[in-house]
Amino acid sequence: MICPKCRENKAHRSRRSGFKDWAAGVILRIPYRCRACGVRVYISRFGSDWTRLRTPEERRVVQLRRALKMRKIRRELIAYGIGSLIMLCVLYYLFQQHIPTE
Ligand SMILES: [Zn+2]
Repeated sequence: MICPKCRENKAHRSRRSGFKDWAAGVILRIPYRCRACGVRVYISRFGSDWTRLRTPEERRVVQLRRALKMRKIRRELIAYGIGSLIMLCVLYYLFQQHIPTE
């Protein structure tokens, strides 16, 4: 992450501590500290700073991570869908056997 003050690529996530950090976390602001100038800033996860202060490599990593997460969700949805269909087939088969026929 690029430091908003000195523009060096040395800002990193800072550990949350205290009420101020907790309150910032509630409104989705994440603390970062710069290794070069020592400044501590809060950056909103959904603001324009989030992407503007990222290096191109970090942006690629974020995109890749997002794509992998979407792929995982899609795979899970397909697996749950197939599982539900199998379950419905089993239930249908079981109830078919218990319906009295004349
Ligand atoms: Zn800095």
